[in-house]
Amino acid sequence: MNVGAQWILRTSEDPLLPEKAPQAPAHKAAQTPAAEAAARTRPHAALRPAVRTGAETRPQATPRAPQAAARPSLKPVPGAAAAPAAAPLRPAAGSQAAQAPRAVPDAALVAEVRTAPWERIASIVNRCRACMMADTRQHTVCADGAPGCPMVLIGEAPGRDEDLQGIPFVGKSGALLNKILEACGLQRGRDVAIVNVLKCRPPRNRDPRPDEAAACAAFLDRQLELLAPNVIVLMGRQATLRMLNRTERLDALRGKIWKLSIAGREVPVVVTYHPSSLLRNPVDKEKGWHDFLFARDILQHGAGAAAG
Ligand code: SF4
Repeated sequence: MNVGAQWILRTSEDPLLPEKAPQAPAHKAAQTPAAEAAARTRPHAALRPAVRTGAETRPQATPRAPQAAARPSLKPVPGAAAAPAAAPLRPAAGSQAAQAPRAVPDAALVAEVRTAPWERIASIVNRCRACMMADTRQHTVCADGAPGCPMVLIGEAPGRDEDLQGIPFVGKSGALLNKILEACGLQRGRDVAIVNVLKCRPPRNRDPRPDEAAACAAFLDRQLELLAPNVIVLMGRQATLRMLNRTERLDALRGKIWKLSIAGREVPVVVTYHPSSLLRNPVDKEKGWHDFLFARDILQHGAGAAAG
């Protein structure tokens, strides 16, 4: 991969960042005085034993980002751990999700996937009926990309288009994601692999329940082991909750380098918005683009250099 050679200077005609886009930040933007005041924080405990989390922080790559000024520096960030939790991620009482039977991991499939090669994971997932989504899915949606892609994006769950095609991030949100990646000189399938926390579409795109995410976790864990990424981008609140066990607003989690321990290796992690959220809130597109630039800088220069 030669991501650096494909860096694209932004212009006012850029389709992703039209009139509001600032000039492209130089790689050294993180070395501004503000960036040198990068904060570092220790992790929360992991949700899942196979993938543990940690966190390093840095200020926003762009001085226009409001978080930059608010970052504490060079010490643990008690505010991050003590931040008020987001609204509980539980389905409303009486809802279809609340009434669904509790998801229970399929022990046989979990054991099988733990040693499965990449090529077999999809067929194992196809046999999974551990949660109610097996009854409503059209297709399971396993991954786009394969080991060798140095960047891995993790989303929440398939939506309608993904369920119909069996491919993650297609439709409008996929098109926006592709634009962002192209603007960063990154290519799906070559530089970037995409996976979801859940492999089947939740009815009406509702939030996954914790037991459903847990029932599906072994598949994602094995995917990450085999992908062995150099940087991970968590897209959206649900992916961030599942992987980092953080419930703060995404704005409070962006612009930092978090860490996941995957197969004994610390992998830098960046948090950003889900592309569907960017479609609903175009004002956030610029911040989302900067998040991917940040991740690309980590890929090119390493977490230490990207953090300034
Ligand atoms: S969402 Fe995951 S746990 Fe539920 S049926 Fe699909 S593969 Fe199995």
